[in-house]
Amino acid sequence: MLWTSEIEISKSALEHNFQFIKNRLGKNVQFSSVVKGNAYGHGIEVFVPLAENCGVNHFSVFSADEALRVQKSTLTNPTILIMGMLDNNQLEWAIKNGIEFFVFELDRLKQTVFTAKRVGIPAKVHIEVETGMNRTGFSKKEIPEVMNLLKQNMGNLEFKGLCTHFAGAESIANFHRIKSQKGVYRRVQNRFINNGLTPQICHTACSAAMLRYPKTQMDLVRVGILQYGFFPNREALIYYLAKQKELEFPLERLISWKSKVMSMKVVKAGEFVGYGTSFLANTEMKIATIPIGYSHGFSRSLSNRGRVLIRGFRVSVVGNVNMNMMCVDVTNVGNVEKGDEVVLIGRQGDLEISVASFSENSTQLNYELLTRLPGDIPRKIVS
Ligand SMILES: *Cc1c(COP(=O)(O)O)cnc(C)c1O
Repeated sequence: MLWTSEIEISKSALEHNFQFIKNRLGKNVQFSSVVKGNAYGHGIEVFVPLAENCGVNHFSVFSADEALRVQKSTLTNPTILIMGMLDNNQLEWAIKNGIEFFVFELDRLKQTVFTAKRVGIPAKVHIEVETGMNRTGFSKKEIPEVMNLLKQNMGNLEFKGLCTHFAGAESIANFHRIKSQKGVYRRVQNRFINNGLTPQICHTACSAAMLRYPKTQMDLVRVGILQYGFFPNREALIYYLAKQKELEFPLERLISWKSKVMSMKVVKAGEFVGYGTSFLANTEMKIATIPIGYSHGFSRSLSNRGRVLIRGFRVSVVGNVNMNMMCVDVTNVGNVEKGDEVVLIGRQGDLEISVASFSENSTQLNYELLTRLPGDIPRKIVS
């Protein structure tokens, strides 16, 4: 292995999670696999064909570069939807390649019409409406002009979708805000329909919304985190378990992250370990160095807090997480040797390091930890 660590992606876990999602989708609800952020760190090039093998035919990304990566790694001819950034100078490429995209600004809508006319292919647009998140989306007062532009340019625009995004459906604290967003969406939807503009599909739901507010599933769900085996947050998990009267975590994590012991060292009592004075050895200690640091996505906020698995034991990070390495305390683990497997995320023997344990020990969200795993760590599919 040339790299200092390796990521494994489990196919059976993905199949399990897809089944879980399918069981919770209404009849005829389409599924879009959200693969932005390098497929939440899993690696677009590895994840996309794997998902296609499991029957996925619709992928959502943030930007044109991600759309291109999906396009280059597909086996079939799936729908690709850009939900975020698309520059005016990328419109031609998107339209020619049949890439669908969110439109949330009049400038982009006009440029889309202009480019589609020039290219001679209708653009497949999803009109994103502002319902209360206040990030992207057409505001109420822009809607008449949007409707006019759509009507006047039907030859150049395909009104694929009408969509919005919820501002935190995973937390009950946002209940009123989500409810209000649902209401705004319905009113805008009716406005379009009453004006003779019926979108081919309506979609609003992310993972949290599809679980907590099943009515938001409409024609299509855009699901990211669940398919990778995680709940959007702890509250969404507890809500789900309580409602289903289940005790077991219902998803399976796809990802495992493994490295090796790089070197061993004995530290005398009274000495500090690593930079500065953040860790003092109170007794003689055995320290293993691991070639993983914050440059590899192991947050510095896990200094003196993180845990890894070695020889079937859970051991602690001591001292600061450095750029490329960290030290762990293996004093009470017998015979640790250079080259021993180190599990950063995943299972070893009876023990497991979950991604959730990172968020408990630092301020990182599971979304954040995953997407910060560097793209150049090799990903390997395992059954
Ligand atoms: C990221 C994203 C999703 C998916 O969110 P999950 O919580 O991972 O399911 C859906 N829609 C939009 C617009 C997004 O940006």
